[in-house]
Amino acid sequence: MSLLSVHALGKAFGAVCAVDNVNFTLHPGEMLALIGPNGAGKSTTFNLINGQLRADHGRILLNSQNLVGLTPREICRQGVGRTFQIAETFLSLSVIENVQMALLAYSNNIFSFFKSAAQFQRNEAMRLLAQVGLDEQAARPVSDLAYGDVKRVELALALATQPSLLLMDEPTAGMAPTERLELMALTKKIVAERQIAVLFTEHSMDVVFGYADRVIVLAQGQLIAQGTPEEIRRHPEVQRVYFGSGATFEDFNA
Ligand code: ADP
Ligand code: MG
Repeated sequence: MSLLSVHALGKAFGAVCAVDNVNFTLHPGEMLALIGPNGAGKSTTFNLINGQLRADHGRILLNSQNLVGLTPREICRQGVGRTFQIAETFLSLSVIENVQMALLAYSNNIFSFFKSAAQFQRNEAMRLLAQVGLDEQAARPVSDLAYGDVKRVELALALATQPSLLLMDEPTAGMAPTERLELMALTKKIVAERQIAVLFTEHSMDVVFGYADRVIVLAQGQLIAQGTPEEIRRHPEVQRVYFGSGATFEDFNA
């Protein structure tokens, strides 16, 4: 059975059909890449799933429950997590404090106010940090970390909400090529271990073709192709949308 199933999803901004009758499914343990040129509707699709935006029509089923109309908080509770950039003000806090705050916000446990924040779910925070390979950096301020390690903290923060589906909008933006591949390899390992699913957008075709189990392609709000990375690489319509005539993904990666 699919974890996520999107049916006839639509969202317009005035005359612009940002997401136009889109259908796709996602299974536990699967990494699905959503690609397409700028303005294709990728971020809008994400924001419809996480409830930042409300769909004009269609259904978004998570374990058969419709998410359309729920608030972002309710959708998070249903098991849809997302990565986001750590806000400026939190960079001076330590790595573990950031994770503890995410756990605190998620648990929303009144009793936690009677304990000191430093004690709050310390073990759980360390477990998450070990999973992303940052347990030895736990006490350092986030501002001291290399950029690739900041991205690992952001992954740990997203995992703190115990998602069954994780949304990652351009997770490797701004990263060096080797850092990118490391982050995606780590993500893939966690997806397999936890049997969660990931929907991600990505500009680097190395990442898409190296780590996605399946790829869906949007252009002007419409889903124009879906398939394995190999099928998408060879898809004439996809190549036309990305490169016009002539060029291929091979040229693009060179
Ligand atoms: P992508 O993430 O694939 O680059 P977006 O989902 O951000 O694309 O945008 C899809 C289309 O919807 C674009 O034409 C964009 O200009 C438009 N759009 C996105 N968000 C808004 C908004 N809040 N208001 C008006 N138009 C928007
Ligand atoms: Mg976008």
